[in-house]
Amino acid sequence: MIISKRMNKIKPSPTLAVSARAKAMKARGIDVIGFGAGEPDFDTPENIKRAAIKAIEDGFTKYTPAGGIEELKKAVCEKFKKDNNLDYDTNEVLISCGAKHCLYNICQALLDEQDEVIIPSPYWVSYPDMVYLAGATPVFIETQEKTGFKITAEDLSAKITSNTKALILNSPSNPTGASYTKDELKQIADVVMDRGITVISDEIYEKIVYDSFEFYSIATVEPGVKNQAIIVNGVSKSYSMTGWRIGYVAGPREIITAMTNIQSQSTSNPTSIAQKASLEALSGPQDFITEMLGAFDKRRKYMVERLNSIPGFSCYNPTGAFYTFPNVSGVFGKKSAKHEIADSSSLAKYLLESSHVAVVAGLGFGADSNIRLSYATSFENIEKGLNRIQKAIEELE
Ligand SMILES: *Cc1c(COP(=O)(O)O)cnc(C)c1O
Repeated sequence: MIISKRMNKIKPSPTLAVSARAKAMKARGIDVIGFGAGEPDFDTPENIKRAAIKAIEDGFTKYTPAGGIEELKKAVCEKFKKDNNLDYDTNEVLISCGAKHCLYNICQALLDEQDEVIIPSPYWVSYPDMVYLAGATPVFIETQEKTGFKITAEDLSAKITSNTKALILNSPSNPTGASYTKDELKQIADVVMDRGITVISDEIYEKIVYDSFEFYSIATVEPGVKNQAIIVNGVSKSYSMTGWRIGYVAGPREIITAMTNIQSQSTSNPTSIAQKASLEALSGPQDFITEMLGAFDKRRKYMVERLNSIPGFSCYNPTGAFYTFPNVSGVFGKKSAKHEIADSSSLAKYLLESSHVAVVAGLGFGADSNIRLSYATSFENIEKGLNRIQKAIEELE
């Protein structure tokens, strides 16, 4: 069978691949410590589960409008008002099957063949592939650890050409945990407005921030920038609901309408039951987030300190999300009996095979000097896993 040319540039998500490999080893009885997880390790809160059960019992199990139910859209609008002081109408909101699906729909609705999309690197693994799937071209801006893995207004300005359609911004970032301050966003927003491009803002980690970092949506930092902004968010990370597959997007009505049309011709509505559960997540009690953040914060501090004490590793202190992204290039060139560490992938392979620790190679995020470790796993696992990594690194020659 001949596969479409479009697929030549598309690879499977490397983060999902690591999780799958670690799971397969576990199934064979191997005691694997997984740092690959891109999801909170907590259970979905009880009140949310009950809302889903009630939806089933009430027979809310049929098609809904393709773009999601009106009451959930209303709850999303209220969330934007309450958390971000952003005014959206329900016809400027779309509910999709996860934030990932929102981003996919955006690329399909916004991009043409000659278009370029600017993506700061390191980036979330799916952005470039989604841009390719729309036939457009990703253009990367390399960021540096010493400047907090963030782009500046000048960096952005320098990459904009007459073909630039959009910038994808992800703050707090997966994988780096870098988060943009209000002032930094303002400077980027000025360039976005000046040059007439669209900013796609992935705000899925909005609520997962530390050290009293204050989150701002780029749509709020300058008057008028909202007209050029598409905001993506969802319930997966904040409410530990990754399997429920509900994300939402807000933006100018014409793009939302286009995306709704795409959705009506592809997936139809996101699961009716999960929509009811998400309604409860957004409008019910919010204490779950505070509890989860407390646990994440303890693990974050411990992990950063331990990683920095491993010879050849240096780890930036993330202000958001639940990942550390140490630079491991200090061990490149070292060897064990069976492994030669040349890059992030060979290090990840060595750690998995020799110590049964799963980490994600930075290559998939555009950073081959780094690896990503999620701290969305128990403190006990973190301690055990870091002991194993430390030992494995110390055994290299
Ligand atoms: C997890 C994640 C998403 C996707 O979330 P879903 O709502 O589960 O699809 C999008 N962007 C980033 C940066 C993520 O880490």
